[in-house]
Amino acid sequence: MTEKERTPPGPRDLPKVDDFLSWVEATPAPLSLKKKVVRGIIAILREQILAGDGVAWSALSRAALTARFAAGIVLALRPNFRKVINATGVVVHTNLGRSVLPDAALEMLALVGGGYSNLEFDLNSGGRGSRYSLVADLLCELTGAEAALVVNNNAAAVMLCLDTLAKGREVVVSRGQLVEIGGSFRIPEVMSRTGAILKEVGATNRTHPHDYEAAICEATAMLLKVHTSNYRIIGFTGEVGGGDLAAIGHRHGLAVMEDLGSGCLVDLSAFGLSREPTVAEVVGSGVDIVTFSGDKLLGGPQAGIIVGKKDLIGKVRANPMNRALRIDKFTLAGLEAVLRLYLDPDEAVRRIPTLAMLACGVEEIKKKARRLARLLKGVADACEVAVVPVVSRVGGGSLPEQELPSQAVALVPRRLSAAGFEARLRGLDLPVIGRIVDDHIVLDLRTVAADEIRPLAVAIEAALGEGR
Ligand SMILES: *Cc1c(COP(=O)(O)O)cnc(C)c1O
Repeated sequence: MTEKERTPPGPRDLPKVDDFLSWVEATPAPLSLKKKVVRGIIAILREQILAGDGVAWSALSRAALTARFAAGIVLALRPNFRKVINATGVVVHTNLGRSVLPDAALEMLALVGGGYSNLEFDLNSGGRGSRYSLVADLLCELTGAEAALVVNNNAAAVMLCLDTLAKGREVVVSRGQLVEIGGSFRIPEVMSRTGAILKEVGATNRTHPHDYEAAICEATAMLLKVHTSNYRIIGFTGEVGGGDLAAIGHRHGLAVMEDLGSGCLVDLSAFGLSREPTVAEVVGSGVDIVTFSGDKLLGGPQAGIIVGKKDLIGKVRANPMNRALRIDKFTLAGLEAVLRLYLDPDEAVRRIPTLAMLACGVEEIKKKARRLARLLKGVADACEVAVVPVVSRVGGGSLPEQELPSQAVALVPRRLSAAGFEARLRGLDLPVIGRIVDDHIVLDLRTVAADEIRPLAVAIEAALGEGR
């Protein structure tokens, strides 16, 4: 060991940015990105040196620094938007992209995205067509509504309807339904944005037909019912059903709208889920306008679907704001493909991943969990592996109380904390998103597809890697 190497390196021993850059000149990446990676490495080393973290001379060698750069540039060039494995068991996970599209939808996306299409071209007349007509008939067929319109998302659908039908006038809503749906969608705020005036009626836990009757006046434009998607009021409660609300509204010549949020096209009670009215049942109850999401229980792409009476939908479609909220061709392609699957409800439940995951029995999930556990036999020295019962959730503000019995693989790494292991799983090229329960990482297999199990095992091994 030389005299110099007996003393630890100081900040002056760090390479200059330009020198470092010249060592990696051959790496094919934009110079700005290379600079960022080089500066990042130097900054970390400087921090460690100043903190007395015992940086070795070998870490400052040209070989060590270029190796570090090679790893850094791979990370820097990695796409920001990546596929992840959802092992949370939350089926409609808003942060993880809500619904997984069926193959039929993916094929349509590729087809219309990779070429020209009849997006707004009428193939019968050879003249200009309407993009909305591509799905309107299907939506009417599946919901029994007279007319349909689709926009960017359900928040846009609600805003557009209020803006069209209630601007400057009163909308009567039960106090128990003034919901906030994640992010910034709150009924009172959405309403004031559109210029509609909120008229609250009833109490938080109970609203009666006479509350609506008493609130109706000259200024009233509409009665609105909002699905309390993400919470439940239990105990001494009562609200007015859509059908009764429609009857009250129509007696007074008022439009009645229901924001269903997670609108569902098939009865899910056959799969052990709690009974929610389908969109067709809500339309059938007499409500004039119904709005719901494309990517919640429907299992399609992000979209806002508006179905209802022809004259009202016509007015909503003609609102100039509709142009700003319009649905794009990819969404339309995916949505049409998903809606077509619903023409045969059994087919829909088999082929639409959101429905298939919700309908999946616990025995089938257990098989997947056991398969994953078997694939992890080789990591037994680094991690405890067990198959355990858990509870999955529907998510996406749908059926908030619904508990779905499921099966998970619980991991307890022997030389890593649960939090450290979770961060490593998240940092992989194929990130794995699970839950931490006590000192376990719990991976619920309900939301893991069969063909993701092997990549999941590989990912777990990689995350344990350095800790072994
Ligand atoms: C989810 C939800 C919305 C918002 O729908 P997005 O498609 O997310 O814009 C609006 N209203 C209710 C009742 C909801 O559950």
